[in-house]
Amino acid sequence: MGWTDDRRNGPGREPQVTNEPELSERLRSVYRDLHRHPELSFAEHRTAGIVAAWLRELGLEVLEGIAGTGVVGVLRNGAGPTVLLRADMDALPVAEGTGLDYASEVEGVMHACGHDLHVTCLLGAVTKLATGRGAWSGTLLAVFQPAEELVRGAKSMVADGLYERAGRPDVVLGQHVAPLPAGAIGLRPGPAFAASDAVRITLHGAGGHGSRPEATVDPVVMAAATVLRLQGIVSRELPASETAVVTVGSLQAGTKNNIIPDDATLQLSVRTYNEAVRTKVLAAIDRIARAEAMASGATKEPEFELVESTPAVLNDADAVERTRGALESVVAPGAVVDPGPATGSEDVGVLASSAGVPIVFWLLGGADPGLFAGATSVEDVARIVGGLPSNHSPRYAPVEEPTITIGVNALVAAARAWLGAPA
Ligand code: ZN
Ligand code: ZN
Repeated sequence: MGWTDDRRNGPGREPQVTNEPELSERLRSVYRDLHRHPELSFAEHRTAGIVAAWLRELGLEVLEGIAGTGVVGVLRNGAGPTVLLRADMDALPVAEGTGLDYASEVEGVMHACGHDLHVTCLLGAVTKLATGRGAWSGTLLAVFQPAEELVRGAKSMVADGLYERAGRPDVVLGQHVAPLPAGAIGLRPGPAFAASDAVRITLHGAGGHGSRPEATVDPVVMAAATVLRLQGIVSRELPASETAVVTVGSLQAGTKNNIIPDDATLQLSVRTYNEAVRTKVLAAIDRIARAEAMASGATKEPEFELVESTPAVLNDADAVERTRGALESVVAPGAVVDPGPATGSEDVGVLASSAGVPIVFWLLGGADPGLFAGATSVEDVARIVGGLPSNHSPRYAPVEEPTITIGVNALVAAARAWLGAPA
């Protein structure tokens, strides 16, 4: 598939690229290379090296080592707005099960979230914007971020002087590949990704022999009761118009069948879309843990620890409308859809909130369009999406095309919607 022309390229303006099939080939090969060599969060050294070399070849100013492995390409092209395009670079501790001939060569590590695709698309977009710089003015910041999977990379880059070194953007733009059909883009104003809080609760009982429970305060029973009671928060304490997720992903207590342990530990993942609901849910978790401890006769209060917090990604409504036409220009009519809020989390919002500027973050369809051939309604599509391996699955394998082409063109078109006219 060829590269879609940006409709903004009016007569008399430079074409954006000189040799599109060659770029397309290079992108496919860098994608396969990145996919074969995934690197975990904050260890994206090889990836960062590939990115920096590519950006240097384009003649960009390259900032390296921001938060360890972060790379920024700066393209100053006269007066005008500054647009930040962001890609994340890290992979996951997942053993790949896709069977692809370019599957991971690193044992137990896989690009299971598609960040290799994000890097590829941003390299393509920067190439097109750099070679077509006669068609726009302003400054482009191409940010290649480490450690999204730890939801710490964005914060770390800002703390390590990202904006002092690269300058401050006027808008943050980016995308995440998702199991929507390739050829579709998911865009919505307001909450795009949920806020995520990791909570650890330690419940204190009083251990003893398994044959004499009357002489103990059993933290296993306390933990079990707590887990069940937590299920009532979303169903009983939130209004029907609000939504949240409370998951207990880990429950640990004891070592042996005939010993009642002293303590039990719960690890929770909480997803919310606004601060009021977040505060309410976290307070309910704390209240329930304390109440169940009291109900069990515990002599010591439980400990409640907020291990990690990521804010929601809130797409600015005006900025979404400003960008929508650009995204529509790179896909078929009707292919920019509202995917609803994702309960997944993303730290990209930190790049925007810390600069005090709007963000537009969209979903890039990556699922084989052939799988949707029989779908005649939105419900059909949703049902098929629900049955596909999604991000973080060992079997998650977005199709290369048209995903890469559309991902590149979406970034270019969205950036052009914010950059200035040629000087
Ligand atoms: Zn992920
Ligand atoms: Zn991701």
